[in-house]
Amino acid sequence: MEFSVVCMFTQVECAKIHCPHEQGTPVCTCRMFSSKSIPCRHVIAFLTSQGITSLPNEFICDRWKMTPHEY
Ligand SMILES: [Zn+2]
Repeated sequence: MEFSVVCMFTQVECAKIHCPHEQGTPVCTCRMFSSKSIPCRHVIAFLTSQGITSLPNEFICDRWKMTPHEY
């Protein structure tokens, strides 16, 4: 499935979200997550529109998942 993200001010499409299936991890065409390991505003807006209020585990970089005993 593919979803378009449209700027609320200019009404211009700014990104596309690809979702392989309903439970799959959404991927944005801006590639911010793959380049910086930070979920982009497009994916966050998409998840919010789907009623998902917490960030899925796939979007949290392993570096930030370390528990205190791993230091
Ligand atoms: Zn994006």
